Amino acid sequence: MKVLLVEDERRLAASIRKGLLDDGFLTEIAGDGEEGLWLASSQAFDVIVLDIMLPKLNGFAVCRRLRDQSNWTPILMLTAKDGEYDIAEALDTGADDYLTKPFSLVVLAARLRALARRGQAERTPTLELDDLKLDPASHRCRRGEVDISLTPKEFMILELLMRRVGRVVTKSEILAHAWDFSYDGDPNIVEVFLSSLRRKIDTSSGRKNLRTVRGVGYEIVSDRPRS
Ligand code: CA
Repeated sequence: MKVLLVEDERRLAASIRKGLLDDGFLTEIAGDGEEGLWLASSQAFDVIVLDIMLPKLNGFAVCRRLRDQSNWTPILMLTAKDGEYDIAEALDTGADDYLTKPFSLVVLAARLRALARRGQAERTPTLELDDLKLDPASHRCRRGEVDISLTPKEFMILELLMRRVGRVVTKSEILAHAWDFSYDGDPNIVEVFLSSLRRKIDTSSGRKNLRTVRGVGYEIVSDRPRS
C-alpha cells in the first residue's frame, strides 16, 4: 500500500515512515504543501496523510485543491492538540479522517488500512441530466461548459430534485430538506428560491428542465425530445 505523507518535521516524518514500513506501507514524504500537492496530483496513492501546519501551502489548502481537481484519494489530517476547529475545518475541506498529535503508530496504521479499504468508491458521484451537471462533493454546478453559481440553499434544492429526476418533490419536502427543522416562517419562501434557481439553470440558457407541478410541487425532467 502506498502512502503519501506530507509533513515538514523531518524527524517525525522519518519515524512515521519507518513505523509504517513495519506494517507493510510504502511511504513517500513531501516536506511542504506544494510538493505534497504536486506528488498527490502526479502519482497514485492509496491514502494521504496530511499535516496542517506546512510551509508554502497549508494542509487545508492542499486538501481543498485536491478535491477541486476531483482527486478523491482518502486523506487523513494530522491536527494539533486541542484543535477542535482544525478538525472541523479538516472535515469540511474534504478530509476523511483525522488524528491528533502525538499519536500512536499502531493507531495510524489501523486508520490508514480502514481508509484504504473504504477507497474512493464511496464518493458521491456527479448528478447529471441533459447537459446539467451537479457535483455535490465540490459544490459545483454546470450547464454544458458554463459554471452556474448557486447559493447553498439553491444547491441543496437542486441536489434534492436531481436525485429524484422525473419525480415530483413537494414544497414541504423541499422545506424539510433545505431549511432547519425549526424554521417556522412562510413556506412560500420555497417558491422564491425555486424561481431564482429556474432563472439560473434554465431561463439564462433557454432551457426547461425545472417544472412546476401546480398545487403539488416541482420536478426536474429532461427537456430533450426522446430518441
Ligand atoms: Ca507541521
